[in-house]
Amino acid sequence: MASEKEIKEIYENGMNILEDLTNNVQEIQEQVLQEILKSNAGTEYLSRFFPNGEADNQSFKTNVPIITYEDIKPYIDRIANGETSSILLAYRIIQFLLSTGTSGGQPKLIPMTAESFEKRMSDLLLSDLVTRKCFSGSDEGKSLYLYFIKPEMETPSGLKASFFTTFYFKTESFKNGLAKFCTSPIDTILCLDNKQSMFCQLLTGLLQRDEVVRFGSTFASVLARTIKFLEDYWRELCCNIRTGYISDWIIDPGCKNAMSLILTRPNPKLADSIQQIFEDKSWEGIIVKLWPKIKYIHCIITGSMSQYVSLLEFYGGGIPLVSPIYNSSESSFGINLKPLSKPFDVSYTFLLNTAYFEFLPVGKDGEGKTQETWTDDEPVDLANVKLGRYYEVVVTTLAGLYRYRVGDVHKVTGFRNKSPQFQFVERRNVVLSIDVDKTTEEDLSKAIMKAKLILEPLGIMLTTCSSYADTSLTPGRYVLFWELKMKGRNDLPKLDAKIMEQCCCIVEESFDFTYKSHRKGGAISALELRVVKHGTFDELMDFYVSKGVSVAQYKPPSCLKSEEAVKILNSGMVGKFFSPKTMF
Ligand code: AMP
Repeated sequence: MASEKEIKEIYENGMNILEDLTNNVQEIQEQVLQEILKSNAGTEYLSRFFPNGEADNQSFKTNVPIITYEDIKPYIDRIANGETSSILLAYRIIQFLLSTGTSGGQPKLIPMTAESFEKRMSDLLLSDLVTRKCFSGSDEGKSLYLYFIKPEMETPSGLKASFFTTFYFKTESFKNGLAKFCTSPIDTILCLDNKQSMFCQLLTGLLQRDEVVRFGSTFASVLARTIKFLEDYWRELCCNIRTGYISDWIIDPGCKNAMSLILTRPNPKLADSIQQIFEDKSWEGIIVKLWPKIKYIHCIITGSMSQYVSLLEFYGGGIPLVSPIYNSSESSFGINLKPLSKPFDVSYTFLLNTAYFEFLPVGKDGEGKTQETWTDDEPVDLANVKLGRYYEVVVTTLAGLYRYRVGDVHKVTGFRNKSPQFQFVERRNVVLSIDVDKTTEEDLSKAIMKAKLILEPLGIMLTTCSSYADTSLTPGRYVLFWELKMKGRNDLPKLDAKIMEQCCCIVEESFDFTYKSHRKGGAISALELRVVKHGTFDELMDFYVSKGVSVAQYKPPSCLKSEEAVKILNSGMVGKFFSPKTMF
């Protein structure tokens, strides 16, 4: 684990480390692969691809197949069930990471070694360093970062399995590093009850409001949830500050103890000033009003999180949104070297020493739509990706994944020194599909962005959305779920049928040629838009959390597959609208 000395080294020398890492792309990548092979070529999984024993980089690329999780799952299951021989890797696995990407309803199990964790740590620290350098004075204050954990599981082998965030927040590296800058006492972060944890973290953040210079979390979805929590609990938070007593439903011993050290006296003056802000007619800019020294909001806002950009811009009063890192349970990938980039321009620079990366070219047709042609193409190395092209990332890690398809598609947008920078485009397996039409996550997101523009001048905010392909009738149709509210207030907007239908039209217009021709030919029915009341998507999140997903790593599902999830959203429905039947 990263020691205090190593953490200090990164903070002191990080910019030089970054220069080095972005310059010698080919060399560093080849070295990483060599190291991985040197350690692991003799494992049961890899050895069969090197029949004559020569495990060099070239034969790796020729012989080892590109795989998905399903291909490697039987090996991982054997390790989880207690087999100790070197099945996938020679190093000792310290535990499994749980991924929110599911495999047949179960979270994926991803092996982690001490070394692979250390590399991820250094990425996190480098990203933190780059962001701080960008905002002068942000070194001096504290971070109100809302972090949550989830109970660990134990596999039959006795190895633990947990979400990366849960593992990380429990390490000394976190306690000695980023936690030192956080307003939240570690015991409130480590509380297993997310509601008590959220309440106490917000309370400590409000009590230290003049010291907070950064507001954030892992993903934007957590901050959207936080704003809703403030709407529901601000009176109680103010009351706790006024009286100096913590609410009696805070019973977690860690939280109670931590709060007793912070909430030490009644503070009616502070309570009054905070209450006044909450009682403002509009909550526009409430984050900067509550924490006036905040310089930026820090959370992942790309990919499926981009749906929260306008919400965070509104409540954040326009302070910069910084999307720091792109990573997954499988590997750390890259960091954002330009923290001031606008949310839709964010690119991540891959850090070359964490894993060996390859890229499967993804074809895009004239309309920018992902094609299926890529499977015939050979993957290219990091050093050979081309500006403007799309690729699916394939990773070989220090922890037993070899030529593993992550499922994320990126576009190359530029270079830092010799290292390419990538914009996150979409997750490959997230698609709406009827007949031969495939509407991807990117198609959906672009279409919704266009449609919601007509709501904005009316003061209506689209806070979150999802979709599914309804094939219960023939022909089937795509259904969108939108949670709408008035800007700054919680009232449900008055829904003008004409405007809502226009939104449906804009979405359909924006879809590609295949969709339109199927719609015209009658193989797909008119698009349906279901508006749900404020808070419905929180229930959806609760549902996934009850199924084992961690709040800290929750990704809102863009395309629903679960009937239960559709039912939850239907139960919050307050209006439904359709495109005109004969639109095309
Ligand atoms: P998990 O393994 O549960 O942490 O999920 C990892 C997945 O989250 C990645 O494969 C991406 O699909 C998504 N993800 C992680 N970081 C980002 C990011 N910066 N932008 C967009 N999506 C991300």
